[in-house]
Amino acid sequence: MARANAAYYANSDFLADFATAPEMTQVFGELLGAWAKIVWAMLGAPENIILAEAGPGRGALMADALRAWPCANIHFIESSPRLRAAQAERVPHATWHESLTTIPPGPLILLANEFLDALPVRQFIRREPGWMERYVAEATYIEQPAEFSLPDDPVGSIRETGEARENFCAALAERGALALIIDYGPAESAPGESVQAIRNGAYADPLSSPGTADLTAHVDFAALKRVANIQGPVKQNAFLTALGLHQRTDILARRHPEKAANLRAAAQRLTAPEAMGSLFKAAALCPENFPTLPGFE
Ligand code: SAH
Repeated sequence: MARANAAYYANSDFLADFATAPEMTQVFGELLGAWAKIVWAMLGAPENIILAEAGPGRGALMADALRAWPCANIHFIESSPRLRAAQAERVPHATWHESLTTIPPGPLILLANEFLDALPVRQFIRREPGWMERYVAEATYIEQPAEFSLPDDPVGSIRETGEARENFCAALAERGALALIIDYGPAESAPGESVQAIRNGAYADPLSSPGTADLTAHVDFAALKRVANIQGPVKQNAFLTALGLHQRTDILARRHPEKAANLRAAAQRLTAPEAMGSLFKAAALCPENFPTLPGFE
């Protein structure tokens, strides 16, 4: 079985020629592609393997991953027609799906980077008589008594639940998939409000101009671990460092001095504790008793 460690990722031949990608994030995608290739080897290198991505955005991550592992059988879960078109420009041979349910049977490795945080949460607020569920209607909040009980927090407290995320993970577990989940959120469940609206890179009011901002909420990894077998979460910087991010960046920077500053800035952004390095977590969903996956040693 291939031994997965930082030196392996940083030096192996299959990463040799990847300095051509225009994206700043190229090393990130390559490392995830290398991760998927190792996992495929751990599965016994089945020929009918499916490499899937949930919420591929503009398709850059998969395009970068495919340079590390040119898997032929690519499936995307994407609801936005506009983003599907962008993805088709970078990964023309992909097949698109509305949800996990239509991805054909067979061994599956799925990547999900900043996907779960985009799935809806339910939000509850503790009022004097009890917990109320908070909905948005006509750009204002309305409240109805909660259908189930929640821990008895002080009046004014907020809690969020993420059934859509849990259902997604439970469905992956059900079909025996391997999935790499990268998202932001605490390692332990934390009460409080985390719903945010981001418009043009800045925080916005979630209620103003519906449909024009990205709505996200922190991913509760502990809740996901209650519905699926999951290794981690570990901090993104620990994960990427274990996979050889820095060695790989050094090699590319030496080979392409004109890109060195950009490559180092990207590595710094991905791992700096005050930036993405510690709020972002990596977690691997896998069958029970599966050997330790790369980056989760
Ligand atoms: N992975 C990319 C994009 C993250 S944004 C990145 O890291 O930059 C979230 C992505 O999930 C978008 O592509 C969005 O269109 C898609 N998405 C959100 N909710 C979805 C749903 N319910 N079903 C399918 N795709 C969804």
